[in-house]
Amino acid sequence: MSNTKPVVLLFQDDYERVKDWVLSYPDSETGGQMFGLWTQDRNPYINIITGPGKNCRHGTHSFHQDIDYLKSVGTFLNTEFMMCHIGEWHSHHRLRLRQPSSGDLNSIWKHFPAGVEYFLLIIATIENDRVRLNPWLFTASSHTYDAIEVKIMNKGNVFMRDEVVANKISCGAETPSQPPNPPIYYYPSTQTKTSEAPVGEYVKPENDGQWFHSDWGVHFVQLLNSKLEKMIDASTTIEKTLKKQCLQISFQRKKCSVLLIFPQNFPNSALVFNCKVLGDSSPVAWDAHIEPGQDDVDFVNHIVDHLKEQIHAIMSNKLAVRKYHARNYEVNV
Ligand SMILES: [Zn+2]
Repeated sequence: MSNTKPVVLLFQDDYERVKDWVLSYPDSETGGQMFGLWTQDRNPYINIITGPGKNCRHGTHSFHQDIDYLKSVGTFLNTEFMMCHIGEWHSHHRLRLRQPSSGDLNSIWKHFPAGVEYFLLIIATIENDRVRLNPWLFTASSHTYDAIEVKIMNKGNVFMRDEVVANKISCGAETPSQPPNPPIYYYPSTQTKTSEAPVGEYVKPENDGQWFHSDWGVHFVQLLNSKLEKMIDASTTIEKTLKKQCLQISFQRKKCSVLLIFPQNFPNSALVFNCKVLGDSSPVAWDAHIEPGQDDVDFVNHIVDHLKEQIHAIMSNKLAVRKYHARNYEVNV
C-alpha cells in the first residue's frame, strides 16, 4: 500500500450534479450515497453518486435519505455491477462546517458496514458563493478519520451512459420541481483538473444580508461551534435552526437544554439565552450584551465563559434569576 494520501476520484459531470443538488438547498442539508470501489492505493473511485430520494427529509442540521431509494439503487448496483457502497455525502450548506459534526461521527461509526476497512464521507459546503467538497476517510481498524482530497476526472461518467443504470438512478429520485428559494444561478467552473478542492461559482440575485452569511459571520459560527462541541453532553449534538430569520443554536450541557437566539442585527443587539433544566417546566431566559473582544476568538470565549458560569449557577440553584429579568422578555421558540 502506498503511503501517499488517498484521493477521491470523481467524474466531472458527477461533481456538477452534486453542485446542483447542494445549491438547491442553500439553507438545509441534502445528500446521497456513493457506489464504486477502492483502488489498490485505497483511493475511493466513485462510479455512481446519487442525490436525495423523493421521500428523503431535509433539515437545517440533518439529512435523512429515502431508505427505499437507497436500497433499490444499492441492491441493483451491487448485484448487476459488483459496485460497493463506499460512502455517503451530505451538505452543511452555508454554515461553513467542513468537518463531520459529532452527530455525523456517531452515525458513521454506528452504521459502519460490517467487514469493511474504509468508508468515505464527503461534506459539501457553500463558501463565498462556491461549493466546496470536503472528503473524510474513515478507517475501521484505527477508529480514525482523516481529511483527504478530491481529484475531478475530466470526463463524463461512463456508467451513467448505460440507459438501464441511468433509469435506475432516476427512478425514485427527488425531482428538482421546486425552485431554490431565493433563486440561485450558477455558472459552471472552468477548473476541471485540480487536486485542490473543486469549486463552482454561482451568482446570487442579491445578498440576503444575514449576518451569519457574511464572511465574518460564518467564521464566528464555525468558531463558536467548535467551542460548543467541547462542552456539550456526550452523545448529544448541536442543532442550528432558522426561526423568523434568527439563527438559533441549541445543545445540552450538564443535562440543561440550552438555546442561543441570535438577533437579526447581532452583534449589535443582545444575544438571548434560554436554559431549561431537564425535568423543570419553565425555562430560565436572559439576554446579555457581550462586547466583541479584540478578535473573534476573544468574543467566542466571552460568550462561552458567560454561558458556562450561568449554567453552573442555574444548576447550583444560586442564580438570582430576577436580576436578568429586568425586562419582561418574551422568547419565541
Ligand atoms: Zn453533517
